[in-house]
Amino acid sequence: MTEAKLLLATTNRGKLEELRLLLAGIPFELVGPADLGLNLEVEENGGTYSANARLKATAFARAGGMLTLADDSGLEVDALGGAPGVMSSRWAGPHATDRQRIDFLLSKIKDVPMKNRQAHFCCTMVIASPRGGLRMCSGSCAGLIGMAPRGEHGFGYDPVFYFPNLGKTMAELPPDIKNRISHRAKAAARAKKILAGLLQNNL
Ligand code: IMP
Repeated sequence: MTEAKLLLATTNRGKLEELRLLLAGIPFELVGPADLGLNLEVEENGGTYSANARLKATAFARAGGMLTLADDSGLEVDALGGAPGVMSSRWAGPHATDRQRIDFLLSKIKDVPMKNRQAHFCCTMVIASPRGGLRMCSGSCAGLIGMAPRGEHGFGYDPVFYFPNLGKTMAELPPDIKNRISHRAKAAARAKKILAGLLQNNL
């Protein structure tokens, strides 16, 4: 029997690598957009993680003609009223680098003391079939925004996402540890259960 395929609907290389590790071992062959020669830009104008994940999952499922998983994620900082949230990749400008996004964030909360720098990473995953079937799950992870970036692992805001109980930022943790505690790891654990069920009942 040929293995079913699952398209991972992201062009973010950091995210794609994490998703491949988090979903390793499931009875689906994991494929990225580049493996299919898909060059699709989806406008993320949904206003919530779930709406944006749904936009990406359905567009890629239709274009790729196969079961697709999309992740929409972001950073929510209490001292900024939950910003940047769904705007996490765009709020420092459409072409900003990870380093520029981090500097922008640090400038916005430069006067906020460590005890008030609570933040969450949030992730929602949507699994979509080309016929329009949908399933959804989420995960989150709590920490503090550090005063300066530290660490080389991961991507995005990882160098300033600090775990006081570990004394390390997300970027100082090896990938296997991040992949046990992150927002994406929690959502992926739920997505794996959904995918296992889909082997019996098509979406
Ligand atoms: P989107 O889900 O593609 O809209 O992008 C979410 C943005 O949130 C990313 O570009 C990162 O800036 C940030 N982000 C999401 N997940 C993570 C993570 O695991 N580590 C660091 N930053 C993240």
